[in-house]
Amino acid sequence: MVSLESAERLDAVDPLRSFRARFVGSDDPDVVAYLDGNSLGRPLRASAERLARFAPEAWGSRLIRGWDEEWFDLPLTVGDRIARAALGAASGQVVIGDSTTVLLYKLIRAAVDARPGRTDIVVDTDNFPTDRYLVEGIAAERGLSLVWIESDIHSGVTAEQLAAVVGPNTALVLLSNVAYRSGYLADVPELTRITHDAGALALWDVCHSVGSVPMQLDEWQVDIAIGCTYKYLNGGPGSPAFVYVRREVQPVLRQPIQGWIGHADSFAMGPGFTPAEGMRGFLSGTPSIVGMQAMRDMVELVDEVGMDAIRTKSESLTGLAIDIVDGWSAELGVTLATPRDPQRRGSHVTIEHPHFREITARLWKRGVIPDFRAPQGMRLGLSPLSTSHIELWRGLEAVRDELERLAA
Ligand SMILES: *Cc1c(COP(=O)(O)O)cnc(C)c1O
Repeated sequence: MVSLESAERLDAVDPLRSFRARFVGSDDPDVVAYLDGNSLGRPLRASAERLARFAPEAWGSRLIRGWDEEWFDLPLTVGDRIARAALGAASGQVVIGDSTTVLLYKLIRAAVDARPGRTDIVVDTDNFPTDRYLVEGIAAERGLSLVWIESDIHSGVTAEQLAAVVGPNTALVLLSNVAYRSGYLADVPELTRITHDAGALALWDVCHSVGSVPMQLDEWQVDIAIGCTYKYLNGGPGSPAFVYVRREVQPVLRQPIQGWIGHADSFAMGPGFTPAEGMRGFLSGTPSIVGMQAMRDMVELVDEVGMDAIRTKSESLTGLAIDIVDGWSAELGVTLATPRDPQRRGSHVTIEHPHFREITARLWKRGVIPDFRAPQGMRLGLSPLSTSHIELWRGLEAVRDELERLAA
């Protein structure tokens, strides 16, 4: 059994412990443990202040002048900050765009069109639903075939599995860096190399890794990466996603939603569409400036703290979660659905039990907030800067308590 004291000791030696107080709600007595920062990060206090100022100042007093003064370039400037803080990418390769789903659509379409004559999109059966649904639609639209890798729901896609299916017909490989269900961390450089050896493009969904797992997208030669900003970048519900496109690939990708903001000269308003060069060409319509406000503070904080320190804290939290669950009596019937090797997992831990659906609902009422993933998984999302070891310990103590009540 892992004691409360040992969780306290981990907090005492955690160099990032002071950052938790910077988040709104970190002192709310009704929230005992927030274990879902991987679905919706808590707001920073700085972001709450920024949002409060936004209506009277940037919007209310600069009015339409705001577009010239800052907003027109904001998708690119915030994109560059994310690239530097969290993606291991040089500037000029990231832009904040639409939702993850819409950006994935645009870039999958652009990627398959950039490999004419190749007929296959490789994807795995346990990829995030939106990714799977999109490729089904695009395959039908473009007359392409889907090649499914049967991934293990307790881990994820391996190099051997990918190598066995790619070939001269592969146009695109679409995979997730961190599996949304198991937390499995894919070997991006190795899988990207295998993809390139087959002459295909690699598109990585980095929704669950950006801000929690360090990436070196430039060094790894990733072609395209798309990620959420409302998870570990704390941009708030529905904040827009970002896309990274490696500089050398930008000129060969043409995205299908040709709107005026992606035009080479938006305000000429002339006939015919000429895409803007570089990342602006991946935009379509007016960007969500309101939606881009909160993430700015978190991206600065991530840059200040550094991804390596964030990763160390994340490993400490996920390791503690596994140690706590390992200490439970086998009679509780809980199993681990996340890789034990810290090198192979992201920042959430999934545990399984046939009654976790009901138990999760009861936990939410008592201020312990993990999430449930069918058929029987409870995900413990451990956002490194806003979660403490004690909070995690208390949350899991409540899970154990609910399981014991059920057994009684
Ligand atoms: C959260 C998540 C998404 C969400 O896409 P939206 O368009 O923002 O709803 C997509 N892919 C993965 C892997 C995710 O974790």
